[in-house]
Amino acid sequence: MIKKLRCNTIIFDFDGTLADSMSFLANIGIHIMKKYYDIDYDEAAERYKSTTGLPYEHQISLNFPGYEQNERAIEEFEKLKIERIFEQQLFPDVVETLTQLNQMDISVFVSSSTYQPIIAEYFAKRELSTCFVEVVGYRPGFEKGKHHFEHIKAEHGIRLGDTLFVGDSLKDYERSKDYCKFVGLEGMFKEKDFRRAGHKGPIIQQVSELLAMIEPL
Ligand SMILES: [Mg+2]
Repeated sequence: MIKKLRCNTIIFDFDGTLADSMSFLANIGIHIMKKYYDIDYDEAAERYKSTTGLPYEHQISLNFPGYEQNERAIEEFEKLKIERIFEQQLFPDVVETLTQLNQMDISVFVSSSTYQPIIAEYFAKRELSTCFVEVVGYRPGFEKGKHHFEHIKAEHGIRLGDTLFVGDSLKDYERSKDYCKFVGLEGMFKEKDFRRAGHKGPIIQQVSELLAMIEPL
């Protein structure tokens, strides 16, 4: 029998993990890179993918450091994103999985690179806010990873050693190191990508697989 993961807290990434929003976000992210930086689709797609999981403003500043058009590009991305982000659906097994985790007394959080008011509103519109102890979003200087994990630990007395972080990007894996146990969700990145990045732990295809994998502490 496979050894179960002992935990009392699960932190979920949002885009591509709970919400089926990655093709929408990648489309606009790539479109903006092509439009503002005069690169072709393949190059834009590669630059988008290699930095995915980070706030878009960081994706831009890492790929195009110091370009004078950066601010306009980021502004247009955020405008296009907010126009349609609320239409992006949760993956089909998410609500049932959250409900069951709540029943198991697991503390559930969201940690996202999407701006705080956007994800808070996203869950409020679906009447799902109460599934989470806290939905933690991005603001400049307060990012998914170290900042969010330390905030969750300090504010809620959570032991990060007993916490799983579930995410769909390689950046999620990198940023969980030294903080939480990581579970990779396949989507934009496949198992071989997570393995190549050094992740030796579990990989799932959908979040409901967690239910059979964990043992509440
Ligand atoms: Mg994600």
